[in-house]
Amino acid sequence: MPVAHTLEGPLSVDVLGRQDPELAEILLGELERQSTTLQLIAAENFTSPAVLAALGSPLANKYAEGYPGARHHGGCEIVDVAERIAVERAKALFGAEHANVQSHSGSSAVLAAYAALLRPGDTVLAMGLPHGGHLTHGSPANFSGRWFDFVGYGVDPESGLIDHEQVRTLARTHRPKAIVCGSISYPRHIDYAAFREVADEVGAYLIADAAHPIGLVAGGAAPSPVPYADVVCATTHKVLRGPRGGMLLCGSELAERVDRAVFPFTQGGAQMHTIAAKAVAFGEAATPAFTAYAHQVVANARVLAQGLAAEGLAVTTGGTDTHLLTVDPAPLGVDGRTARGRLAAAGMVLDTCALPHPDVRGLRLGTAALTTQGMGEAETARIAVLFATALRDESAGRGVREEVRDLTGRFPPYPAH
Ligand SMILES: *Cc1c(COP(=O)(O)O)cnc(C)c1O
Repeated sequence: MPVAHTLEGPLSVDVLGRQDPELAEILLGELERQSTTLQLIAAENFTSPAVLAALGSPLANKYAEGYPGARHHGGCEIVDVAERIAVERAKALFGAEHANVQSHSGSSAVLAAYAALLRPGDTVLAMGLPHGGHLTHGSPANFSGRWFDFVGYGVDPESGLIDHEQVRTLARTHRPKAIVCGSISYPRHIDYAAFREVADEVGAYLIADAAHPIGLVAGGAAPSPVPYADVVCATTHKVLRGPRGGMLLCGSELAERVDRAVFPFTQGGAQMHTIAAKAVAFGEAATPAFTAYAHQVVANARVLAQGLAAEGLAVTTGGTDTHLLTVDPAPLGVDGRTARGRLAAAGMVLDTCALPHPDVRGLRLGTAALTTQGMGEAETARIAVLFATALRDESAGRGVREEVRDLTGRFPPYPAH
């Protein structure tokens, strides 16, 4: 098949550079930033050159409303194959009866799950935002908080673990139409069976928002929500390492409702370049190399948690089962916001986050990106030391910045560059 634009590599900006040097400069500047600082944002990763190639392909030109074999546009016979492959690979990877790979983002997938199962005004029980719930779990600034009646459960302030007794009590009191399990900052495995039991007791749907752990699930490094949840929402760009986007998994009986909730209820034309890139990422995630990657991500996160605890930071729940951890830097004499600034100056990029103690901002870190770069336990242990050094003493930032530059230089995210 002739290809109109030949890409010399997904990172080649030659074509853009000749036409629009201003924007080419920005692409290169961002590549430089990503390559010379440490990406500790738990939701980020480095997607592969193959995924980037699919994203930057002529599939971006195609309009494809509807589903394979039933489109509202002509000329979909080739992109239909891409979507069928993506769906089949997602079903096989996660052992799901049905997959919808059209959601433009994780939030769009959650919106579609609500649209499939709920009516405006219904009561939904989800993790409260101050405890690690996502915007789509009832924030008043989000459609979820505006259109549904959210009740929030939380974590135990001492242990930092989900309080399943509270979940049960709230479910019995409020009789929600759906229960959502999933979080932006919970470092431990979610007990999907426990949530299913409560959902069954009160006759609620169980929606698993597995945006974060789905990549670990793909690699066999975290329990799967698929056998327990009525609908699983996920992103494809976090640990899963695919393109920026969302997806939904469910049983056959809800397949049609979920598909209609995505298109035409909440979205228009599918982004076929992204769907092709999702297929590429699912293919990568099905390999033994990805299984090893997912386990290494967790091993690195554990080493990071141990290292930061040894340096005196307060690690929520005492550690992690996953790719992410949250810490309170207060014992080192800095609050979360100051800490984020000091770390940024030292070349470490991360987020602040909610902690089990209300009104305290902590830090959320993840190991998905650095593990993709090839860093292992030795490097992660060193990062914990650098992290604490930069936090304790602002004037140490410059030295840490140099060591971060050296480390990232030895583990480039895109080696060909
Ligand atoms: C990341 C995330 C989302 C949203 O994903 P976007 O692609 O940013 O819309 C939803 N829910 C949870 C729990 C997340 O972590």
